[in-house]
Amino acid sequence: MSNEVLCDFRSDTLTKPCAGMRAAMAEAEVGDDVYGEDPTVLRLQDRLAGILGKDAALLFPSGTQSNLAALLAHCGRGEEIIVGAPYHTYVYEAAGASVLGGVALYPVPVEEGRHIAPDTVTAAVKEDDNHYAISRLLACENTVSGRVIPLDVIEASTRRARDHGLNCHLDGARFFNAVTGLGIDPAALAAPFDTVSICLSKGLGTPIGSVLVGNRDLIAKAHRLRKMLGGGMRQAGVLAAAGLYALDHNVARLAEDHARAEELAAFLRAQGATGVVQDTNMVFMAGNDPSLDDKMRRDGIEIGGPYATRRLVLHKDITEAGLVAAMQAFGRHL
Ligand SMILES: *Cc1c(COP(=O)(O)O)cnc(C)c1O
Repeated sequence: MSNEVLCDFRSDTLTKPCAGMRAAMAEAEVGDDVYGEDPTVLRLQDRLAGILGKDAALLFPSGTQSNLAALLAHCGRGEEIIVGAPYHTYVYEAAGASVLGGVALYPVPVEEGRHIAPDTVTAAVKEDDNHYAISRLLACENTVSGRVIPLDVIEASTRRARDHGLNCHLDGARFFNAVTGLGIDPAALAAPFDTVSICLSKGLGTPIGSVLVGNRDLIAKAHRLRKMLGGGMRQAGVLAAAGLYALDHNVARLAEDHARAEELAAFLRAQGATGVVQDTNMVFMAGNDPSLDDKMRRDGIEIGGPYATRRLVLHKDITEAGLVAAMQAFGRHL
């Protein structure tokens, strides 16, 4: 029995900046980004806009604020967003677009725990009638709880949304996990969307930061909204340097997280765990033993819970020794 945490599977948000990232942050060239004078922030924004094949990008303190600014850039009061019922923008962002922007959120069911079917989009779009909210935006997510949506599948949803005159936003908190899972060009995955929000602080390992990428007009609107929401930051180059470091060092290695998640899932199945589902860097399993969390914790392993479905997230701060210890502990307790 030990109190030391050997392996923490709760989230990839737990990743800490490594020595190299901290050095890059310490050495960052900075200026006042509210004045548009922080060269490192401008570099990060240009770099991500280029990678995604879009006009412009904007650094935010969090993914929630980046999504919120995007939703409010797309929609005005009395307008409506069609969003997957389990998506973060609907469930976990305190209904910010409704509270602060008078925007309605219309949740719709998703297929296979991830994508919105084209006919679901059509059924959700309201006719032009003065009784109704005005349908304006399709809000997608990729990955969804680790599940990756293939390009043709997400394109079918966005194409249908375009047919109805809607704009399209992607909550790509784990955009690079999706790109890695699909093995495609980031610009191809971003192409169906007007705006894409990407978290730097999850598997990419920065302490803070998300970036909204999109066309010039929408990013200009989002820039005003960011100021309004209190997200204008001064010498933010310290954070942008972490983001640039992450793009150089932590994107290519996401494939390792995915491979280790697959390995862990196979091990859990072999131990008789039920309901094991794995995609990209996440593993889920049925939670039929409420005491499992405590047993694992006593062995130094933290798992997501207590949930009916337990979540195990692989990330760069899970060491090889930690993963071995976790497998041994699962072997004892499952
Ligand atoms: C983490 C996350 C966000 C943003 O969360 P913040 O904690 O505000 O950075 C948005 N969408 C999804 C799917 C996420 O996982």
